[in-house]
Amino acid sequence: MTENIPQKNTGWIEVICGSMFSGKTEELIRRLRRAQIAKQKVAIFKPRIDRRYGSDHIVSHNLQRIPSQEVSSCDEILKRARDADAVGIDEAQFFGPDLVAVCQELADRGKRVIVAGLDQDYTGKPFEPIPHLLAVAEYITKTLAICVVCGNPANRTQRKVPSKERIVVGAADLYEARCRHCFEPPDEEEKRPAGMRESDRVKSDRTESDRMKSRRVDSVGDRSGRFKPGGTTSRPDRSGRTAPRRGRHARGHPKPGRTKARRKGRANG
Ligand SMILES: [Zn+2]
Repeated sequence: MTENIPQKNTGWIEVICGSMFSGKTEELIRRLRRAQIAKQKVAIFKPRIDRRYGSDHIVSHNLQRIPSQEVSSCDEILKRARDADAVGIDEAQFFGPDLVAVCQELADRGKRVIVAGLDQDYTGKPFEPIPHLLAVAEYITKTLAICVVCGNPANRTQRKVPSKERIVVGAADLYEARCRHCFEPPDEEEKRPAGMRESDRVKSDRTESDRMKSRRVDSVGDRSGRFKPGGTTSRPDRSGRTAPRRGRHARGHPKPGRTKARRKGRANG
C-alpha cells in the first residue's frame, strides 16, 4: 500500500471515499495512527459542522477515535498544518470546492494529505470536492458499505427522512447504506420549475416509441400492483409499503385507471 513506498521530498494526496457506513473514517484513522507510530507529525482536521461525536476527536462509526482539530474554513487548515508531515481531513464534503486548492497547496509543500469524504450526495450525484480531488490525487481508495436491504456491497447513501437540504448531519438515524439496485433516489420531480417537469416534457419531447415503451412498463406494473420496472413509478420499501419514487407518479400511489386514460389521450394527440 501507499505507506510501503518510500517517498522523499515530495508530498501527495490520498483520497478515501464512499457512502456512509463504508469505513472511510476507520481507514483514515488507521493510516494516521501508522504515521504517528512512524514518528511523523500528524495534524487532523474536521469541519465545525459535524458535531456528532464531540469536537476534539475524529470518531468512526465503530468508535475508533483520534484527536483532531475543528476548523470552520479550509484556510484554517493551511495555517494550522504548517508543521505537520501528514495531514488528515475528515468529512471533506462539508468543506466545499475550496478544499481542492488547500490539499494541492499542502501536497506541494511536501506533506502527505489524506482526505476522507462522501463521493455522492443523498440523490446519488457527485458531491464536491471529492470528485475533483479524485482527479488530482495520487492514491484513491473507494470504500464500500453493505446494503441494508439485500446485503450486497453498497456505494450509495439512502436518506430515510424527507428533506431537500443537501447537507443534513446525521448517522444511522437518518441514513442507511444501499447498493445500486436498492437505492431509491428522492423525488426530483418537485424540485424542477414548472414547464421543466417530466409531465410537461413528455408531450413534446418524447417519441412515439418512448411512449410505447413507457406504456408497456406501466402496464406491467399496473397488473402486478407491485414493483414497477424502469423506476417510473414506485416500488415497495422494506416494510412492504409503497415508497415514492422518481417519475411521473412519484408523489402518490399510482392510479392505473386514470394513468392509462391520460396516456391514451396523449398518444393520440
Ligand atoms: Zn441492495
